[in-house]
Amino acid sequence: MVSYKALNTAVKSILNGWKNSIEKYNKLDTWKIGEQLSILGRYLRNNDDSKDIVRQVRFIRDCVISPNLNVNQLLYMINKVVAMAEASMKSVCLSLKKINGRIKLQGQGERFKGETMRLFDERIRFKGNMLLRNFDIETETPRDSRKVRRIVEKRMCQAYHRRNKRIDYDDSQRRHEHYWMKRATSFQLYNIGQMENVGSVCRGNSTHWKKEYDEQTGKIVFKKKMVYSSEEEANEAVKEWQRTKTHDKREITAYKCAICKKWHIGHKSKMEEYSDNENYVQKAG
Ligand SMILES: [Zn+2]
Repeated sequence: MVSYKALNTAVKSILNGWKNSIEKYNKLDTWKIGEQLSILGRYLRNNDDSKDIVRQVRFIRDCVISPNLNVNQLLYMINKVVAMAEASMKSVCLSLKKINGRIKLQGQGERFKGETMRLFDERIRFKGNMLLRNFDIETETPRDSRKVRRIVEKRMCQAYHRRNKRIDYDDSQRRHEHYWMKRATSFQLYNIGQMENVGSVCRGNSTHWKKEYDEQTGKIVFKKKMVYSSEEEANEAVKEWQRTKTHDKREITAYKCAICKKWHIGHKSKMEEYSDNENYVQKAG
């Protein structure tokens, strides 16, 4: 279910072109057919859609190259696969992508904007009316963090049901809900815990945060860095970074954080600047 994009753009546009040509002229427009078939061939080989969709595209390809092409049948098959692709896009709310060893939750910023803003405005009673958005689950006590996790889970569950008012609540819907909730909750737990109004402030002696533009609020904030629970995990992320960010010549390294006691990765030059500061624990050995 991860990293899902039904029918790529090139395939979609070929299918649409064929559909239009059949609907308008009751025949297949063949002047680019060789090129189009090779794009379909590549798509079929890469095979990264669901089995059903790939199989349907294969039927379409076979139909197009068959000596006695039935355009009505072809049109029917194209409409069917387009509908299948749309349905699968709807069923997968979120997709994950790993960039530089960090999991990027694609498109969620936009998709969850409403929920995120609601969470940002919420206050936590047990923390003396603290804004939920300022709560960093990595640095607070496990007890409080669990409470906040439950609050976020509950809010995302409510959001799910606001969006999916369905009567036919079956097993597949339940699995979908579970999947959605897991993704949505971890996205929001990552969102909260940043510091606001830091536009002119320097990051100072801690590297638990990075200064970043927050697309949710349009402000410059200190965003907490991606947390790794062990040195091994952080080193894996460093390797991934080196594999994917080949243009970045600065040395990157894993370090243990003095703030959350977990691991982050960052550029070495920046860390040396802070290495003589006692608040900053460099690679605790
Ligand atoms: Zn930290």
